[in-house]
Amino acid sequence: MSLLEVEAVNTLYGDAHVLFDVSLRVEENEVVALLGRNGAGKTTTLRTIMGVLAPRSGAIRLAGKPIQGLAPSKIARLGMQLVPEERAVFGGLTVEENLRVASLTAPAAWPLDRIWEVFPRLKERRTARGRTLSGGEQQMLAIARALIRDARILLLDEPFEGLAPLIVRDLVALTRRLAGEGRTIVVVEQNVAAVLSLADRVYGFNNGHVVYEGAAAALRADPAPMRGVMGLAE
Ligand code: ATP
Repeated sequence: MSLLEVEAVNTLYGDAHVLFDVSLRVEENEVVALLGRNGAGKTTTLRTIMGVLAPRSGAIRLAGKPIQGLAPSKIARLGMQLVPEERAVFGGLTVEENLRVASLTAPAAWPLDRIWEVFPRLKERRTARGRTLSGGEQQMLAIARALIRDARILLLDEPFEGLAPLIVRDLVALTRRLAGEGRTIVVVEQNVAAVLSLADRVYGFNNGHVVYEGAAAALRADPAPMRGVMGLAE
C-alpha cells in the first residue's frame, strides 16, 4: 500500500472535463514531481487530492483510507497540507502571527522553536508583516505554515515561481532536508531543472491525462519524454 493513491480520477469544472482517469501513487518519504505544460491539469490534481475540488469519479486513498469527497479541513487533519501557488500569506499579520494562526486548528502543532530551527530567516523576520516579506520569504512562510501543522504530506504548487536562482537553490535544499527528515512531498513546478534535482519520481501530464511515469534520474539522463509526450520546451 502506498501512502497516497489516486485511482482513475476524473475532475470537471462545471461542464469542462479537466482530469481524465488520473492515477498515481506516492510512497512514504518520496518526492514526486508533476510536470507538464500550463493547463495540463497539475494544479487541478493537487486541488482534487486536497479536497478543494470533488472528483466526479475515481478514488483517492491516504494510508489506505478513502478521502475523496472529504472537506479540505478534514483531509488536513489527516496530515496533508496544500501550499498553493499564490502562497496566501496574511499580509497584515506578522510572520509569527501567521504561524500561530496556522497552528490553532492543528491536532499536533509544532512549537515555534522547531520552525525557527528549520527557517532561521523566518526567525529573524518574526515581527515583519507578511506583506513586507520578499517572495522567497513568503514561500518559506507558506511552507512553514504547513509544517507547523505537522504535515506528513506536503503538496507544493509551483514553490519556485518568480524566485531568483539563489533563492530557488536554498528552497531546493530546504525541501530536500524536509524529505530527508521523513516528509512526503508532491511538487508541481515549471522549473524543470530545479524539480528534477529534487524529485525521486515524476508523473508527466498532458491535456488532463497522465502520459509519463518514471524515475527523475531517467529524465535527467534522457529528457526526450519531456519534449515528446509532455510537450515541454526543455
Ligand atoms: P498551470 O501551470 O497553468 O497552473 P496546470 O497544469 O496546473 O497549469 P490546471 O491549472 O490544473 O493546469 O488547469 C487545467 C485546465 O483546467 C486548464 O484548461 C484550465 O483552463 C482549466 N481550469 C483551471 N481552473 C479552472 C476553473 N476554476 N474553472 C474552469 N476551468 C479551469
